[in-house]
Amino acid sequence: MVLEGLGKSLRNAIGRITGANSINEELIEDVIKDLQRALLQADVNVQMVLKLTKKIKERALDEKPPAGKGPKEHVVNIIYEELVNLLANGEPLRMEPQTIMMVGLYGQGKTTSCGKLALLFSKKGFRVGLIAADIHRPAAYDQLKQLGDKVGVDVYGEPGSKNAATVVKNGLEHFRDKKVVIIDTSGRHALEADLIQELKDVAAVARPNERLLVLDSQVGQQAGPQADAFHKAVGVTGVILTKMDGTAKGGGALSAVATTDARIVFLGVGEHIRDFEQFDADKFISRLLGMGDLSSLIEMAKEEFEGNEEVEDASKHIMSGRFTLKDMYTQMEAVNKMGPLKKVMSMIPGMNKMEDKINYEESQAKLRRYRVIMDSMTDEEMEDPRVIKGSRIVRIAYGAGVDPHDVRELIKQYAQSKKALKGMMGNRKMRKQMMKQMGSGDLDT
Ligand code: GDP
Ligand code: MG
Repeated sequence: MVLEGLGKSLRNAIGRITGANSINEELIEDVIKDLQRALLQADVNVQMVLKLTKKIKERALDEKPPAGKGPKEHVVNIIYEELVNLLANGEPLRMEPQTIMMVGLYGQGKTTSCGKLALLFSKKGFRVGLIAADIHRPAAYDQLKQLGDKVGVDVYGEPGSKNAATVVKNGLEHFRDKKVVIIDTSGRHALEADLIQELKDVAAVARPNERLLVLDSQVGQQAGPQADAFHKAVGVTGVILTKMDGTAKGGGALSAVATTDARIVFLGVGEHIRDFEQFDADKFISRLLGMGDLSSLIEMAKEEFEGNEEVEDASKHIMSGRFTLKDMYTQMEAVNKMGPLKKVMSMIPGMNKMEDKINYEESQAKLRRYRVIMDSMTDEEMEDPRVIKGSRIVRIAYGAGVDPHDVRELIKQYAQSKKALKGMMGNRKMRKQMMKQMGSGDLDT
């Protein structure tokens, strides 16, 4: 998962609150220390850590929980809110005609992100032009041209030219009729004075609306000074964090945002042209903490199914670690009744990527098929699907009038759900929280 290390230590700190009997000043002090350690270990800048934790501490000690919220939930919420506030630092990138200049050190993902942005704008119906103003790497133009061809966007470049500002000037002239122009620039391994001058010259010619700093999320303490230097040169307006699909600690990213006071606009989540996500601070922090969205999902489910005994029974089963085919069916049916499955799925951490693949009608059809298949099963088979093998599969398929393949698919889905649940239930904290929210009593033996 994204930002594994930081997420884990933040979750542990929060776990101390949710696991405590009561909230007192001493506990808050301890948790603040944990938070500081977690953030520092993730390479977040010291000043920023102090500022953030001071705020959290003040609020945790001073503010009374709002009606309907317990003190623990309140403190967890404060931590969540302050982390979100730190990152929610402005508007998304506007989808309107403009000139965008990318800056960043070598290998951070500038050129790749140019292609991703170009695709995004052209999908919105804008005519887009890309300018290759990296005059230092011999293959820079070819790389951008390849990306441009892939997304059907024109690329302007003057391979061999020694003057980036001139290339940009000519490029803007060439792209007079384009609505959105994106300028790729040179990076270097280090921030040399001539690179900075070159970027200033390009910015002076292009007068870009946005100057986006492209930053590899793996970058640690160096992120602050790097961001600062680029910010002084061109005035960074936004940050694109790349390689979020890797095992980044992510703290550097937080530092860069604080240094430039610019908002994060996009996340690069892979090498492919479509691996690009609009940044959303809420979602980001939820993912980092690994449970925010899950609890709202449970909350929703609870409201929807209050008093539905079947669902409650199934929930209790699940919480107690028993999970039969019937439980799975009841749960699937319940989730399905909640309407667009897509929305629900997108709230589950780690499921966001699946959103596109899930189709409401398809899942309805699948449920109907499952029901028919399950009707052909014996009670024994429903309770313990492990016994369904060989001739039983053929018998069930025959009885249900489906292909044996469909029966296997159902069993496979069951095995997967069971495995996922086991992982979730192995996490005591999460299990406790889910049980509390499900109101399913004390099954945590
Ligand atoms: P530049 O030197 O700043 O222009 O960086 P490039 O765009 O050439 O990217 C450097 C390397 O990082 C290339 O191999 C890219 O495929 C890779 N890359 C860029 N963005 C991402 C990302 O979001 N995830 C992953 N995994 N790789 C990326
Ligand atoms: Mg490049």
